[in-house]
Amino acid sequence: MTAVTGISTELVRPSDLAEEVVALVRHWLAEGAKFPVDAAAAQLAGVLKDPHGLEFTVGFVDGVIRPEDKSVAARNLKTLVPKVPSFLPWYMKSAVAVGGHLAPVIPGVVIPVARKVLREMVGHLIVDATDAKLGRSISKIRRQGIRLNVNLLGEAILGENEASRRLEGTHKLLAREDVDYVSIKVSSTVAPHNHWAFDEAVTHIVETLSPLFRLAASSSPRKFINLDMEEYKDLDLTVAVFTRLLEKPEFHNLEAGIVLQTYLPDALGAMMGLQEWAAARTANGGAPIKVRVVKGANLPMEQVDADLHGWPLATWGTKQDSDTSYKAVINYSLTPERIGNVRIGVAGHNLFDVALAHLLG
Ligand SMILES: Cc1cc2nc3c(=O)[nH]c(=O)nc-3n(C[C@H](O)[C@H](O)[C@H](O)COP(=O)(O)OP(=O)(O)OC[C@H]3O[C@@H](n4cnc5c(N)ncnc54)[C@H](O)[C@@H]3O)c2cc1C
Repeated sequence: MTAVTGISTELVRPSDLAEEVVALVRHWLAEGAKFPVDAAAAQLAGVLKDPHGLEFTVGFVDGVIRPEDKSVAARNLKTLVPKVPSFLPWYMKSAVAVGGHLAPVIPGVVIPVARKVLREMVGHLIVDATDAKLGRSISKIRRQGIRLNVNLLGEAILGENEASRRLEGTHKLLAREDVDYVSIKVSSTVAPHNHWAFDEAVTHIVETLSPLFRLAASSSPRKFINLDMEEYKDLDLTVAVFTRLLEKPEFHNLEAGIVLQTYLPDALGAMMGLQEWAAARTANGGAPIKVRVVKGANLPMEQVDADLHGWPLATWGTKQDSDTSYKAVINYSLTPERIGNVRIGVAGHNLFDVALAHLLG
């Protein structure tokens, strides 16, 4: 009781915290600088600072690593030679230059070497999900006291077969003893559905995802599933699937999560809707939910979609608007009574926003 009476009930306004935010970020940066920098991470950061860095890296992954046909990969490697970032060490630059010219002649020799060299640069970001390697990687990361949210990588899928393969993959991951938290996207676990048949799509997706949620609910201790968000067109659908799933009596006590993207003007309204829904659920003895608040990673695709269809852009028009929206959602959510219904995950790389959320919390 004493601890509770010590909490001030007066709400702090974000603008009151500006100076404290800056001081906290300075403190974090000073503390962070005491840790050694991972060599591969430093290299990738350097490459991405180059004006051609992102184009080169994406071009390499899409054009050289992804194609199954080595002649296609070889032709693409050649086009990347003029864009090689100056930050790469000389031996990597020479490998790309020489490899780019030789690749079309002897693709079978050059392409595997080029893939291996460049893979080292991004290898620390991705874990191999094959059974033989996954366990070792998970236990290495967990040794550092880190809890893992495991996400089977892959973008939107096009057919039933790939959809069930992806869902089965996530099911297999969640069934492992060393995995207690997975993230999935609705768009990568069910085949594309008809957006005009909203209710039918929700019912179908809820039935498709129920076994996964059943696995989480029947595990001891319970496991956690998060529904990730990607495209704007899936926002309402994902929220409807999430709430409908958790309204099933068997999931009344299961805590689960969803993502909201604050670069969407709809984010605050969606958060208020979820808060209201979750408040009724907890008042009824149900488990709270978690919302991961992000700004949104799908901006280029939303822009292409709007352009192609001649539609207004679904997101806010400027970064400042998205930043403001992020703060508004966080500020709305972090009150003592609301966090009892909706736990907030603050996801982002922007230290000022993370510090603000930390202080508001
Ligand atoms: C742990 C974690 C989980 C994540 N999960 C998801 C997820 O499930 N779904 C998802 O979509 N993203 C996810 N993200 C990515 C996130 O949405 C952001 O893209 C990323 O974190 C960069 O935003 P920031 O606030 O960290 O950085 P900042 O540099 O402060 O912000 C960059 C962001 O601002 C926004 N922005 C930039 N320019 C404009 C513009 N012209 N108009 C409007 N908005 C603009 C974009 O959202 C851009 O990503 C996740 C990130 C983390 C760290």
